[in-house]
Amino acid sequence: MAHGHMIPTLDMAKLVASRGVKATIVTTPLNKSVFSKSIQRNKHLGLEIDIRLITFQAVENGLPEGCERLDLVPSQDLFFNFLKATAMMQETLEQLIEECRPNCLVSDMLFPWTTDSAAKFNIPRLVFYGTSYFSLCGGQSNRLNKPFKNVSSDSETFVVPNLPHQIKLTRTQLSPLDQSDEESVMSMMMKLVRESDLKSYRVIFNSFYELEDYVEHYTKVLGRNAWAICPLSLCNMDIEDKAERGKQSSIDNHECMKWLDSKKSSSVIYVCFGSIANFTASQLHELAMGIEASGQEFIWVVRTDQQDNKDWFPEGFEERTKEKGLIIRGWAPQVLILDHEAVGAFVTHCGWNSTLEGISAGIPMVTWPLSAEQFFNEKLVTEVLKTGVGLGSMLWQTTPCEGVKREAIAKAIKRVIVGEEAEEFRNRAKEYKEMARQAVEEGGSSYCGLSNLLHDLSTYSSTCMTPENDQLDGPGLTQLPV
Ligand code: UDP
Repeated sequence: MAHGHMIPTLDMAKLVASRGVKATIVTTPLNKSVFSKSIQRNKHLGLEIDIRLITFQAVENGLPEGCERLDLVPSQDLFFNFLKATAMMQETLEQLIEECRPNCLVSDMLFPWTTDSAAKFNIPRLVFYGTSYFSLCGGQSNRLNKPFKNVSSDSETFVVPNLPHQIKLTRTQLSPLDQSDEESVMSMMMKLVRESDLKSYRVIFNSFYELEDYVEHYTKVLGRNAWAICPLSLCNMDIEDKAERGKQSSIDNHECMKWLDSKKSSSVIYVCFGSIANFTASQLHELAMGIEASGQEFIWVVRTDQQDNKDWFPEGFEERTKEKGLIIRGWAPQVLILDHEAVGAFVTHCGWNSTLEGISAGIPMVTWPLSAEQFFNEKLVTEVLKTGVGLGSMLWQTTPCEGVKREAIAKAIKRVIVGEEAEEFRNRAKEYKEMARQAVEEGGSSYCGLSNLLHDLSTYSSTCMTPENDQLDGPGLTQLPV
């Protein structure tokens, strides 16, 4: 229940619906708006997508009324209340399954209890991982081998063992959860997630085969059945679908496109840190100084929910940069912007959706990981794909974040926009863009991945049919076009 998880869920529903499979999205009342407009539009195009709402017990779990999304949780210590409230949706979800009788349940990794729900109805559960194979393999290796115990300080690097590439991290770049032997609510939750995905039918990734050597590593070394069926964002073909993902844009799309149309090819940097990350006022000040010092044109998305305090803008910044820069306060039409040829680089926190959207648009990245699995995503971009540069983020931290200096920001931006090295980044990034496009086209790896998945589901359905399930309404999965 966060934009970074709901946006790909919607894309996934559109994708399977485009193959003739009916998709029903289950969400809570507050989050309906993330899906409803796009569902309406796609229904008009003939795709069978529905939406069903179930209640979320925020107040009963000590959360403010309407706190139905991660970015609305007012403080870190209420995070566990939020997780508990999600688990309490089990009963209502099962009532809904009873009523709708779907052929399979696809649910986010953070709903481990849905494996049991699916089992009660003898239907398969597919786990959706909105992250890279790479980060899961790296995380698992760290948990098993604990290489961070062999270094003498937090800043000394260690190699993540047994990966196809030599990936180095420091203790400061790992979540405290991944280093501690203590059992916490969160570590128990993640254990449940891992156990439930072993018991689930298949794992689906928002990734594609050509992007990561780690698809095979994950399947062989971790012994799980997984399908890469993406990049999901590429299922959005028309301007409205690209522009309105998650929230309504805070800028008129035409105005934004007109501004970009007036710029030279690959000249503008796009700066956006997703839906949750937040910075201290002094870090935002430093970022503004870094962007200005880079001398490049820019679009900068400033979240209004927590950052609309103008005090941190350097004096005269907006006046000085009004020709060069466009500040979007609130929510940007990110995929639409990234697809514009004037955009030459993406300064990102390496949330997996943003990372993939940048890769699919063929744009070099400046990486500024903050938390979650973002430090792994940074390594994938900068050291495996070699389509971007890091600006030296060393500290895994939950928001508000700080610690990066203006000089590092300006230097990293210039490296991916200006000069020969930038040209190399651009060429490599374009190759990955082409691979992404081919992966989702008919006959491509992700296209076939989805075909195989649908085929396997149809086999599951026929071998697991019980007399009771034989009477289900609607076509069985064996009748699906694959
Ligand atoms: N996003 C957007 N406009 C914004 C900010 C974010 O469309 O102004 C979308 C972005 O395209 C991506 C998602 O929100 O699909 C953010 O997911 P990500 O995994 O990158 O980061 P998170 O928000 O989960 O940290």
